Amino acid sequence: MSRPRRASDPTTWPEPCGRCSEHHQIVASWPDARICGYCYQAAKRRTGTCPCGHQGVLPGLIEGQPACRSCTGIQLNVDCQGCGAEAELHSGGRCWTCVLTTTVERLLTNPNTGAIAQPLQPVAAALKSMNRANSGLTWINQKHVSGFLTDLAASEFITHESLDALPPHRTRDYVRGLLVEHGALPRRDERLARYHTWSEQALQRLPKGDSHDVARRFIRWHLIRRMNAMDQISEGTFLRSKQTATVAIEFLKWIADRGTTLKQLTQADLDAWQAGGPTTREFASRFLQWAIKSRLTPADIAMTPHRRGTSPKLGAAEQDRLIQEAIHGEQLNPRDRFAAILVLVFGQRIEDAVRLTWNDTEILDGLATVTLGATAITLPVPLDQPLRDLATRQGQTAAHPNSPWIFPGQNPGHHITGSTLRERLKKIFSTRAARLGTLHEMTKATPIPIIAEVLGYSPATIERHAVASASTYARYIGATLGAKRSQSSSGNP
Ligand SMILES: [Zn+2]
Ligand SMILES: [Zn+2]
Ligand SMILES: [Zn+2]
Repeated sequence: MSRPRRASDPTTWPEPCGRCSEHHQIVASWPDARICGYCYQAAKRRTGTCPCGHQGVLPGLIEGQPACRSCTGIQLNVDCQGCGAEAELHSGGRCWTCVLTTTVERLLTNPNTGAIAQPLQPVAAALKSMNRANSGLTWINQKHVSGFLTDLAASEFITHESLDALPPHRTRDYVRGLLVEHGALPRRDERLARYHTWSEQALQRLPKGDSHDVARRFIRWHLIRRMNAMDQISEGTFLRSKQTATVAIEFLKWIADRGTTLKQLTQADLDAWQAGGPTTREFASRFLQWAIKSRLTPADIAMTPHRRGTSPKLGAAEQDRLIQEAIHGEQLNPRDRFAAILVLVFGQRIEDAVRLTWNDTEILDGLATVTLGATAITLPVPLDQPLRDLATRQGQTAAHPNSPWIFPGQNPGHHITGSTLRERLKKIFSTRAARLGTLHEMTKATPIPIIAEVLGYSPATIERHAVASASTYARYIGATLGAKRSQSSSGNP
């Protein structure tokens, strides 16, 4: 590799180099000139096609043009004893490429079997064929790289986890990339991997003990498990899961500092927790629900949703949380979940929702469609699940054999009343406030990415739906204005 060039030194080396004219130590006397060490190094490395047609190392110069050894009579050993190529030699009469090859083979050979493990063969091939053998060899000879490859070679199985256990370094990512590219390792969701790493660090904030174990279980058996079940983890899910874990950890720390335990937690404690900090504290409710379900804490306590009853419309954060609850939560049955989605995502009025019939839907294997107003809207995954669940039940139940209604009422042949459904949804939100919040979100400059983010699918999908139902939305925006007027005049929520 090229070392930094020293300054020309005429005092020590009075004779100038025949090629560069600078004053350095003369190391070779070639037919065209006596040359310095720098020019000698450069000459050995210069390759190309000589005017005579020979391809290979061109150390000489004829009228300023690079030329081969036989044309110039230069004596220089550039014949590799390993591969026979004409190339700069590294050591032992062998070229850089040959030395790189043996180095890769030596490092990647499993000491127990004396062979390179099958999954590592593509890695070996890729490393051997690095374009610039000299920089490749320099890279591989660095202690941390050769150490990493030696460890890798000795691993009994090569998995993402075994790679994770090796020192974190770019080499690891590089090798992982090669293994994935060549099918030796499955493609892994790097967000999930990042989450694993992140959560291990986050857990350090809790001293070892009960709280630490509880937080670990929550992260492993609730958050990570849910991410594992997803085909693809969006950045939104990733960030939300981080936030949920962070707040849960803070909450557990706070409980310990307060001198109590999860088992003894009271509603007064929860109220104090919420009153004593920012609204993000209510994100501990996901942890609390899990803790209640896991019987770690009394079941008769609950976080208070921050904005309930205080605002005519729900804020974006609360809206997001409710959409999550409608899709993944366990507080509602499929029928109410579907109703919640109609309100929260599509800004539907409850009075319109209750009139929906099965004729307004089309449920195919890959596609669930509901017609709202005049517009058929395909429900993107996971928004379609409640409707699918309902349709399955509808096929199974004899309660309303001929009922066309998606939301059948108590009386045969009638749909549920708006007030009954509104009352049922009150468990998680006020439909009026939620719908206004949804419409507000939809009319803001960037509603699509927000909703997309929250739901974990592509903005393009939502954009399509939004465009398709623009007329519907417009109608509802008009209705909102009407609703606001009537709200301010009647005061009726
Ligand atoms: Zn020179
Ligand atoms: Zn030649
Ligand atoms: Zn060679």
